[in-house]
Amino acid sequence: RAKAQGRARYEIFNAQMHTQAMKRLHLENDLRKALERQEFLVYYQPIIMLNNGQLVGFEALIRWQHPTRGLVAPGEFLTVAEETGLIVSIDSWMLHTACQQLAAWQRAFSNTALKISVNLSARDFLGIHLLDEVEQALVKAGLNSSCLTLEITESMLLDNVEDTIKLVASLRERGVQISIDDFGTGYSSLSYLHRLPIDFLKIDHSFVSNMQVSDKNYKIVSTIVTLSNQLGLEVIAEGIETLQQIEQLQRLGCKFGQGYFLSRPLPPQAAEALLMRNTFL
Ligand code: C2E
Ligand code: MG
Ligand code: MG
Ligand code: MG
Repeated sequence: RAKAQGRARYEIFNAQMHTQAMKRLHLENDLRKALERQEFLVYYQPIIMLNNGQLVGFEALIRWQHPTRGLVAPGEFLTVAEETGLIVSIDSWMLHTACQQLAAWQRAFSNTALKISVNLSARDFLGIHLLDEVEQALVKAGLNSSCLTLEITESMLLDNVEDTIKLVASLRERGVQISIDDFGTGYSSLSYLHRLPIDFLKIDHSFVSNMQVSDKNYKIVSTIVTLSNQLGLEVIAEGIETLQQIEQLQRLGCKFGQGYFLSRPLPPQAAEALLMRNTFL
């Protein structure tokens, strides 16, 4: 009996593993075709100046319009995209598309100060192409490099600190700005922070989202704002969901913010409607 049960369990386990493997294989196949089939979309989330509610720019966030699954969020495919290396082509497409869109908006709204932030993955830093990609995207779009911010995470530094620092430095020499995304969630932040030539810290949404009820989170946010000021960096709060959080962040002197309370990430046409309004709060 024990043996039969064992075998049954083994078979269930096997079947589950098989389903998982098939799912993953399908995802990988679909992902390979997604670029040429033009299934990716860019959504734009407004970044706002918290003291006056003015729109300063957008963060570009990828979405996948899957033929049968509908709109798929990046959390569901980025890991596979990274493991297969497809992320490099995806991010290159993203960089080009977001720069083109920003340039078009700058012209349409006579607003050359409008900015765009694009997320990078650790894989983008392994190749030699990143600097060329960025250069090409800027030139093709006719965009001033100071309008582009690249978002990196602390974890990208783990593999190869020296090379990453060098690459970040050359991107910045090209005039592009650099953000540390999800700040406070990685390791060793402080040990390299002073060596990295960066412009912005983005406070992770996990600290912001309940800072009004958690004294600990409030203190963490407050400390990151102070740290940014001390280091001469600008600070952006992510994941603002309530007016109370905005008021707290304003009091703490946090300059920029983004979050559902201000606006969800939007498809281009809806983002354009916000550009006409230009001001929040
Ligand atoms: P992220 O760069 O930290 O982006 C912020 C995420 O928080 C976005 O999720 C955004 O939709 C979400 N968010 C914005 N406001 C709020 C809020 O008020 N509350 C909450 N709970 N969430 C909020 P999204 O779009 O699903 O993207 C997830 C992550 O995927 C991003 O985190 C980024 O790391 C990555 N990602 C997105 N687009 C790209 C891309 O083009 N390339 C790469 N390499 N990574 C990307
Ligand atoms: Mg980001
Ligand atoms: Mg990120
Ligand atoms: Mg983040």
